[in-house]
Amino acid sequence: SSRSRDRPVVCMSVQQVSTKKVAVSPLVLEEAKEPPLHVFKNKEPYTGTIVSVERIVGPRAPGETCHIVIDHGGNVPYWEGQSYGIIPPGENPKKPGSPHNVRLYSIASTRYGDFFDGKTASLCVRRAVYYDPETGKEDPSKKGVCSNFLCDSKRGDKVQITGPSGKIMLLPEDNPNGNHIMIATGTGVAPFRAYLRRMFMENVTASSFKFGGLAWLFLGVANGDSLLYDEEFSKYLVDHPANFRYDRALSREHKNKRGGKMYVQDKMEEYSDEILELLEQGAHIYFCGLKGMMGGIQETLKRVAEERGESWEEKLSKLKKNKQWHVEVY
Ligand code: FAD
Repeated sequence: SSRSRDRPVVCMSVQQVSTKKVAVSPLVLEEAKEPPLHVFKNKEPYTGTIVSVERIVGPRAPGETCHIVIDHGGNVPYWEGQSYGIIPPGENPKKPGSPHNVRLYSIASTRYGDFFDGKTASLCVRRAVYYDPETGKEDPSKKGVCSNFLCDSKRGDKVQITGPSGKIMLLPEDNPNGNHIMIATGTGVAPFRAYLRRMFMENVTASSFKFGGLAWLFLGVANGDSLLYDEEFSKYLVDHPANFRYDRALSREHKNKRGGKMYVQDKMEEYSDEILELLEQGAHIYFCGLKGMMGGIQETLKRVAEERGESWEEKLSKLKKNKQWHVEVY
């Protein structure tokens, strides 16, 4: 203003204290060179305790999905991208006198767990129900054993854990500025929730992994009510806009460019040039969710590569050879 014109003005830039991340003290696990594997075997599982079971889908979602936090007391450590085995209580109907077979679940939390103390693991479980194909009605006698046990469990209940297992979905941390494209359908988002918390929610003091690359999540679900962890992911968009992209494909609400249902591969197709460029530059791509997802995705990637005059087969074999291609479908 005219009154301040003759006075010296000092401009100061003040570095704001970032409150966007949670400060976390490092676990010994941070120093390990290899991930923990099969610490607890099927014959001698660890007995964990249910901390909470929360339905995380809205009323219009087809089916039910729960976020389940299990206390392992720090005794069943794991890395992001690994799975736990769960042995449901009761007898295996196919092998009388024996326990049920183990079921695997991708861990949806980082190694620090949802309380940042390294003592819990979270699972994202869809309740498996059976519909009689003739009547179209639900048949409770054929409901999934383990998913129903987990979704019906209450705080304080005991749960038999095995593992952790799996190396294919580990987050490569050698390059903190690397790019990661994550493709999920439904509960397949579990390992990606863990990656994203590691990248954007936790600030592990003295850790070498300070993420500075791009994380791009494509999530396919039925409708808006079926979105999983949407608030958490949307917050990263606000707090880390340069490092996070988040695209949702709602098959029953959105239409693809051909007027059909919008599946995750249709959403990917919208960005196919960027995706192929990122892969060319060394990005990792991960797929997790129902087995059926891979057919449509591979067809789409093949089509867009061919439209660009490139061979998808050659690209795919290069991605596999370079360990950029990670698939865990069930
Ligand atoms: P089961 O009892 O094993 O039954 C399987 C299916 O058969 C059910 O749909 C059931 O309704 C049906 N069925 C039962 N009886 C009959 C019958 N008589 N006739 C016809 N059908 C019948 N799942 C998740 O929800 N979240 C995850 O994060 C997850 N991660 C996984 C990671 C990996 C690596 C793998 C391999 C699997 C993962 N799964 C995950 C799947 C999970 O392991 C289980 O397969 C799933 O929960 C179903 O197990 P269940 O015991 O409930 O069903």
